[in-house]
Amino acid sequence: MAEPLHPLHPATRTVQTGRPPHRPDEPLNVPITLASTYVAGGELEYGRYANASWTAFEDALGDLEGGRCLAFGSGMAAITTVLDLVAHGDKVVAPRHSYTGTLLSLADLEMRGRLTATYVDITDTAAVAEACEDAALVWFESPTNPSLEVADVEAICAAAHEAGARVVVDNTFMTPILQRPLELGADIVVHSATKFIAGHSDVLLGAVVTADEQLYGVLKGRRDLHGNAPGPFEAWLGLRGLRTLHLRVERSSANAAELVRRLAPHPAVEEVRYPGAGGIVSVVLASADHADLLVRSTALWVHATSLGGVESTLERRRRWQAEPATVPDGLVRLSVGIEDVDDLWDDLEQALDRLPG
Ligand SMILES: *Cc1c(COP(=O)(O)O)cnc(C)c1O
Repeated sequence: MAEPLHPLHPATRTVQTGRPPHRPDEPLNVPITLASTYVAGGELEYGRYANASWTAFEDALGDLEGGRCLAFGSGMAAITTVLDLVAHGDKVVAPRHSYTGTLLSLADLEMRGRLTATYVDITDTAAVAEACEDAALVWFESPTNPSLEVADVEAICAAAHEAGARVVVDNTFMTPILQRPLELGADIVVHSATKFIAGHSDVLLGAVVTADEQLYGVLKGRRDLHGNAPGPFEAWLGLRGLRTLHLRVERSSANAAELVRRLAPHPAVEEVRYPGAGGIVSVVLASADHADLLVRSTALWVHATSLGGVESTLERRRRWQAEPATVPDGLVRLSVGIEDVDDLWDDLEQALDRLPG
């Protein structure tokens, strides 16, 4: 097979990577391999260590992020495996607003004396840099979930490395189509591939990507030992979803930007938060009651947690007890899908118009 002449663009790599070699009668896609055990004498040995369906997904996502990827059974399986790298008593820096599962894990580990956590306003780069002193790990999302604060990824990576700390970025919201943290200096990227990467609200899947071979080996060893890899079908669905990632991200970003333009002047909307790209928008309404009424009044938009599917969903985040109290009570997170933007707006507008003035 001839080699391409130029480095390929992300849209092409999204479609082309993670495929078997082109040979007559070979399928174009790696089939689902259902196996717990392999005939001895090769490299795979056992289903907890290796699976062709994982590898195909990992090759594709690793290529897009610029490192080597390991698939996990969920975003949280990936996150807890990475957090487990810190030594006993290490200091971890994290944003005060983060995915609730990450915050709960940090609190749980801290309560058990496993680590100490320092929470920062991730938009305050100087304060983050100061917090990096004597830290072992700096962990953040940008933009944060659900507050949509944006971090200076490059500056934070530089400050963390200066202090001798490792940097982990949860890239679930941006996806490698919009942001590649390893290129900006991060040591590890984690994903809830459940969201935009798989993209169809039908699978739980996680991933870790790193360009550091030694770190890759350590993380692979952890996954082998803990057995928190995905099932082959989940990995296959993840790759199946990934094939259209660039199209879905493009469309939901365009829809989100247009909805932000229309939402901003609506009298029921106090604040619209949007980081300028991606499919997640947060709107702040006057109260929890207003927000609860909004999520009950839509027809197209589904009231549901999670995000990143082809279908538009919305949720008042503070309905979860673990959501920090600094997230406004009336904040509704919108996960903008790939539907027609006028239909999405009409539905949102009629629901907003019902709110008491
Ligand atoms: C959903 C989510 C997770 C957790 O992923 P699961 O696949 O649900 O385990 C982690 N980080 C972010 C930013 C998320 O949105």
